[in-house]
Amino acid sequence: MKFGGTSVGDASRIGRVAEIVSEYVDYSQIVVVSAMSGTTDRLVQAYANARVGESWLEEFQAIESGHYAALEQLGGKGSERERVKAKLAEILAELKQRLEAVPADGTMSHQQSDSIVSFGERLSVRLVAFCLNTRGIAAQAVEATELIVTTSDFGDAEPLLELTERRSKFRLEQLLRQGITPIVTGFIGSTTHGETTTLGRGGSDYTATIIGYCVDAEEVIIWTDVPGVMTTDPRVVSDARTIQSLSYDEAADLSHFGAKVLHPLTMVPASLKNTPIRIKNSFRVEAPGTLITDSIIDASQTVKAITPKKDLTLISITDTRRNVLEVLTQVGAALADCGVTPYLMTHASAIGSVSVVVDMAKREVLLKAIESHGKLEKIRSEDDISIIAIVGSGIYSIPGLYAKAFTALSGSGVKFLAIASDASQRSLSIAIKNDDTYVAIRSLHQGLQLIRTEDENE
Ligand code: ADP
Ligand code: ASP
Ligand code: MG
Repeated sequence: MKFGGTSVGDASRIGRVAEIVSEYVDYSQIVVVSAMSGTTDRLVQAYANARVGESWLEEFQAIESGHYAALEQLGGKGSERERVKAKLAEILAELKQRLEAVPADGTMSHQQSDSIVSFGERLSVRLVAFCLNTRGIAAQAVEATELIVTTSDFGDAEPLLELTERRSKFRLEQLLRQGITPIVTGFIGSTTHGETTTLGRGGSDYTATIIGYCVDAEEVIIWTDVPGVMTTDPRVVSDARTIQSLSYDEAADLSHFGAKVLHPLTMVPASLKNTPIRIKNSFRVEAPGTLITDSIIDASQTVKAITPKKDLTLISITDTRRNVLEVLTQVGAALADCGVTPYLMTHASAIGSVSVVVDMAKREVLLKAIESHGKLEKIRSEDDISIIAIVGSGIYSIPGLYAKAFTALSGSGVKFLAIASDASQRSLSIAIKNDDTYVAIRSLHQGLQLIRTEDENE
């Protein structure tokens, strides 16, 4: 089971985690925990300040006081609380040392950044383990740096599954055999040389399925602050509906296109061993949530969800002297050179004319790489682009899907900049201006009839 930042956001929520764990006592459980909400952002900010010589004390003190306050409020036996407080103090002292050691010369080190942002999870597991122990559930904090071996792609590391499986299985099963529930840090791992890495923002979901893979879990439950994966972000559309079931591919598409509820790679380890993933609301345990499996349980070819991916750049390349194959080869080589994955790519002309949408942060590096492969007639980039993805297996067979989608968007005055359909017929992507994102999501959600009906009790 994995609990996200909000679900461990304060002492009362950590208490709720203990209640949920105790409801599942009939199972051997491994608990994966995120940092308390806001902590990772603070650590990112602290590192950003440290590397340019600005003060990080405010962020540090907020983290320190937040964790000590939660510990006090968790109650429990005084002596045990003192022992945990000493452990928190030791971890905080190490964090302080690392921040002090950051050179204030403006350089960016992803390696240093990872070692600093990992502290949120290293702190939160101590609180959760303490809380479980005070409530009579034997639990022990475990740092995933001991379990998950990763590549050295700091900031976005990938697990080396075989090595990870060997390490994790042994250590975790040993604890389980002793009747101890392991409380594992989400988000982090370490290289074969022992350097701390992170799996990318929101990576604790990924940790949960990596661990699930290693111990052949029956199911992975991701507890979060919404009732499941929903037809769109409920913060944008208040009458969004909870989706009962999704295939791994549908869920992966949704998270790839911006549905923050799951880290985009969460489905990879689960699909390797066919482990079901359930997304549930930690505030409403009885609600069924969303079940993600390899099969499409609801094969009614319906639109499952729509999701926005913001802050992208549309790069348009035209060269009338060349054919499309030459231009595509050049763009493909440039994308590979700089390891950039495009969210959308289109070409539909005899002449060399290609459009590609990538993260805005990758614009400069990609433009340089394209130009390094040869002079082009015209290359133009437009920032502040959003992609709206309409996702659901077999959606292209839905009669009138395109008509409904484009009528809804045009009716709200949204201008389309590029459109692409996916070869597996699972998603339709429409590039628009960032400023149009929310109106587009709302009108599509209504136009495609994804809204909650009166009798649906969410
Ligand atoms: P956690 O801290 O539990 O990992 P996150 O904040 O990472 O939680 O993810 C949950 C959030 O994802 C929700 O609060 C919601 O605003 C957002 N979200 C975006 N798209 C969706 C969607 N399609 N379904 C559910 N939640 C979504
Ligand atoms: N704490 C990490 C983050 O905020 C990982 C996670 O919450 O899943 O990105
Ligand atoms: Mg998350």
